[in-house]
Amino acid sequence: MAKVYNFSAGPAVLPHEVLATAQAEMLDWHGSGMCVMEMSHRGKEFMEIIHDAEQDLRALMAIPAGYKVLFLQGGASQQFSMVPLNLAPVDGHIDVLDTGHWSKLAVKEARRYTGVNVVASSSDSNYAVVPDVASWQRTPDAAYFHYTSNETIGGLQCPFVPEVGDTPLVCDMSSDFLSREVDVSKFGLIYAGAQKNIGPSGLTVVIVREDLLGHAQAQTPTMLDYRVHADADSMYNTPATYPIYIAGLVFKWLKTRGGIKGMQARNDEKAGLLYHMIDSSNGFYFSHVQAPYRSKMNVVFRLKDEALEDVFLSEAKKNGLMQLKGHRSVGGMRASIYNAMPIEGVKALVHFMEDFARQHG
Ligand SMILES: *Cc1c(COP(=O)(O)O)cnc(C)c1O
Repeated sequence: MAKVYNFSAGPAVLPHEVLATAQAEMLDWHGSGMCVMEMSHRGKEFMEIIHDAEQDLRALMAIPAGYKVLFLQGGASQQFSMVPLNLAPVDGHIDVLDTGHWSKLAVKEARRYTGVNVVASSSDSNYAVVPDVASWQRTPDAAYFHYTSNETIGGLQCPFVPEVGDTPLVCDMSSDFLSREVDVSKFGLIYAGAQKNIGPSGLTVVIVREDLLGHAQAQTPTMLDYRVHADADSMYNTPATYPIYIAGLVFKWLKTRGGIKGMQARNDEKAGLLYHMIDSSNGFYFSHVQAPYRSKMNVVFRLKDEALEDVFLSEAKKNGLMQLKGHRSVGGMRASIYNAMPIEGVKALVHFMEDFARQHG
């Protein structure tokens, strides 16, 4: 098998050890004689899998009592409607920070269900920064404050947790979930699609403070009501069983690697290597995002000579460096270096980029 490093933004690289375990357990999970995909979600085997996954996630993130962990479907995109339907009144409004593509989509969807006040936007700078806190126009009676901790497409990461007092803080953490330490008690609700940093697509993790449950708008479909899922321990209907199993293996893998703290140190190192190389390339490569806000998960960069971008991508591929093309809406390059990307992959990319700049600079 060819050795490649996969820099896809999502679905994305999974830990090699996790895939090897899944392979070994594929035909016979723990002596059950069944593949996890074939199990009843209410059987004792799967109940053990989902229970362990939740407990391991709670331990990793030190999730306090008083928070529910939900394993849902529909992707992070479904949360764009589920959050306002459950947490905001029809005749009320929410505050949202606009940092790029995903926060804009969250705004667009929320407007269908409640009023939306955009507290600040960095669209003027093409999202090179997170808007200065001093410029935020918050409203005192907002049902919640929503932000996107990491803009996967723009490569912009919020380096701090917004201080919003008693207003419930809601975060789309899809692309930096489990990548750095987070104090869950500061949040009313955190959501994340699994396919960036957790596991396969088809699973969305929601962590929600219990007092926020049970206030859904009357029009809310049953399947979009958090309380329905919370009361049923994510078993109201059939959950995404196999993705939950893989996510559970990823949580166990994280525990063997020093937990989130260990991951954060590695992620800092990986991103540091890549941005350092970009910044010392005399402009051959450049990042439009200002240094304090550069994403440690999705390193977005361009070549000074745009005509070289296709050559860069095809040469990279020949060197086993896959899926480096930027999102179609922004162009350029994007190296997604989630938890499961080993530092060797980042070093291989850095070497390749240095060579490429030498040849074409
Ligand atoms: C990928 C992504 C989404 C959308 O996720 P889906 O699971 O495809 O709905 C939303 N927000 C962020 C920050 C993302 O990275």
